[in-house]
Amino acid sequence: MHQYPSVYRCAIQSPLNRLFDYLPPPASAEVLSRARPGMRLWVPFGRRRIVAIVLEITQSSEIAPNKMRSAERFIDEHPLLDSHYFQFFQWVADYYHHPVGDTVFGFLPSLLRKGRSTDKTIAPSERAWQLSRHGQGLISESNELVLKRAPKQAQLLKMLFEQGPLSQGHLTTAGISASIIRALSDKGLIEPISTPADSAPDATNVVKHPALQANTEQAAAIDAVADKLGSYHCFLLHGITGSGKTEVYLQLIERCLRADQQALILVPEIGLTPQMLERFQRRFGADILALHSGMTDVQRLNAWLTARDGGARIVIGTRSALLAPLPALGLIIVDEEHDSSFKQQDGLRYSARDLAIKRAQLSDIPVLLGSATPSLESLANAGQGKSTLLTLTERAGNARPPLIRLTDCNEPFAVDGLAFTVIEAARRHLQDGAQVLIFINRRGFAPSLLCPQCGWIAKCSACDVRMTAHLIGNQLICHHCERRETWSKKCPSCHHQPLQTLGSGTQKLEQTLEQHFPDVPVIRVDRDSTQRKGSLHSKLAMAQTGEPCILLGTQMLAKGHHFPRLSMVAILDADTALYSSDYRGPERMAQTITQVAGRAGRGERAGEVFVQSQLPNHPLMVQITQESYADFAGQLLQERAALALPPFSKSAALFGEHRTLNELLDCMRMLRQAVERSIGQRGLGDLLTVGPVPAPLPRKSNRFRAQMILYSQQSSTLHRYLASLRAVIDNTPPPRGMRLAIDVDPIDTN
Ligand code: ADP
Ligand code: ZN
Ligand code: ZN
Repeated sequence: MHQYPSVYRCAIQSPLNRLFDYLPPPASAEVLSRARPGMRLWVPFGRRRIVAIVLEITQSSEIAPNKMRSAERFIDEHPLLDSHYFQFFQWVADYYHHPVGDTVFGFLPSLLRKGRSTDKTIAPSERAWQLSRHGQGLISESNELVLKRAPKQAQLLKMLFEQGPLSQGHLTTAGISASIIRALSDKGLIEPISTPADSAPDATNVVKHPALQANTEQAAAIDAVADKLGSYHCFLLHGITGSGKTEVYLQLIERCLRADQQALILVPEIGLTPQMLERFQRRFGADILALHSGMTDVQRLNAWLTARDGGARIVIGTRSALLAPLPALGLIIVDEEHDSSFKQQDGLRYSARDLAIKRAQLSDIPVLLGSATPSLESLANAGQGKSTLLTLTERAGNARPPLIRLTDCNEPFAVDGLAFTVIEAARRHLQDGAQVLIFINRRGFAPSLLCPQCGWIAKCSACDVRMTAHLIGNQLICHHCERRETWSKKCPSCHHQPLQTLGSGTQKLEQTLEQHFPDVPVIRVDRDSTQRKGSLHSKLAMAQTGEPCILLGTQMLAKGHHFPRLSMVAILDADTALYSSDYRGPERMAQTITQVAGRAGRGERAGEVFVQSQLPNHPLMVQITQESYADFAGQLLQERAALALPPFSKSAALFGEHRTLNELLDCMRMLRQAVERSIGQRGLGDLLTVGPVPAPLPRKSNRFRAQMILYSQQSSTLHRYLASLRAVIDNTPPPRGMRLAIDVDPIDTN
């Protein structure tokens, strides 16, 4: 150890799992005296200059004076975040066995990661401008028309588009005069935004619209959580679809706002955010901030800084909003807590739901997890008393839960995977003026193209999967690597023609439904049909009008949406989990069926749900459709307990990817042996190690994939193994091009 007057221990963005020491930059004693953990610096790193964040200021270092380098200069005058955030980052890095620097930087907006200063934003009292909805639409379609003859106006539009809201002062400095601003504002292309100071906390003014009269169950849930405001407690709100969970959230947030606190709401997907957001905006007068991945970097930075400076009372966002800096956070809500999109699948593979619980613990505030189909993890926690279960068992208002029926998709007269019973039922509902939803989780025209003569099947040349036939451009597209090929008419192997498609995707069903129902619009919602910005919104708006229509779509239609005129749902391919090797298959299948079925009968009219299956007599299918989700989940939990599978054990995975399978498997085997040697037989305890073996999808984008899965009843055993694994990987870097990732609590092993 070497002693110094002061050493900055810094995190930098790097795969190296350690911190880096620097001497203070050349600066005045006064500047140096203000140095605090949480401030960023420019530092030399190799021959580069990079951004570092001070995590600790100390007086000793293992680095000798002749090797020690000095930082170049401070970026921040004040810490970016309170030090307790950095403790949290450290905890996250330890738990997920992920490099600490990468963890810290991963939670910051990208512009801050790149060293952008924080003072460009709008000061509280200043007037500021943003694009109006109209202006946004105009500039994203074509910015030619207004702009040709008015270059300054064009410049302003472009600035607001690229940089997000800007203050009047900033615009003046950039040479934009008040008359240019007025011209665009008169055209309705830009609008002033209220800055935080305009809407300083005003408890009397937080609610625009009065709350609904909560029913007994809702009131009990609200009281239970409200009772714990101000201390940590985890709640699981299990409310059947349409039971008024969102109303519970709204009333709890109201209590928070009245207590001058902030609320954070995490939702699974960007597609759901606008609907939720509108509902929140209708209710509250307070500032609501949306944080999601569809924002530009500048919008993100501004939103982040607004939250940090207390300018937003309510933050609603996807998993990346988890660590939105909120100084007066009083409550965290995780909506659709079972949703797998809360788990990040690359880089730092964190679960936003689990970390929300951790954040609530550290901040000593309640956290509420809500779902119609809670994850087995959350149900088990409630069963073990780690959280309190609140239930809503009835639909709010007059709506009744739908009736669910199993149908055989191989029944006579079925067309393109649509059972005759389903077609006839749809006809009845449409004739009665209602809407129908057909759910199939498969986009494209058909999942297989094959030769009836020799059995050739179109496969991706880079992945071990079949190509999906798509109508647009007559292409075959690999849904794993996006590779495209032309849809040949002739068999490349025996030259027979024509080739045949097998199975149906949304595009084929769209055609089939249009033939059967020529007078009713078929609204197809899948990733291909909603690529253009705003098209999902306009499709959903069409359905919201309530006119009879057939909504046809994938997972995108499964959750959250509220279509009051929808009275029938058909689920076409939910039973694929019957053939899956993943032990989570039945849980997912029950969640999907329950969620999709829950779209039906949310208005006055009773709902009817058809679940098509290849195996309509399979006991699992019968249970899922006849029992409540709670009962079914209860049985699954018993099975998991009997097999000591999560949530009754802890699991982790090592995923590998490389250009050759043998080299990958050899390397992973060596890692396993090295870890086992270093821990010793006793240290391994009850650890069960499966693999390394090729992954269920063994090749993707010409890279081979393998995995090793670990299970243990003892969390400490598992983490000891992972810590050793991390150390072995860090000390003996894998061959060039090989990628290895540790996943703690993995949910997807394919
Ligand atoms: P969930 O989030 O559980 O799916 P929502 O909160 O969307 O349910 O509620 C479903 C419908 O019931 C919405 O139209 C909502 O306005 C209505 N609703 C919720 N709570 C009540 C209540 N207490 N009284 C009347 N209507 C309610
Ligand atoms: Zn052939
Ligand atoms: Zn592919």
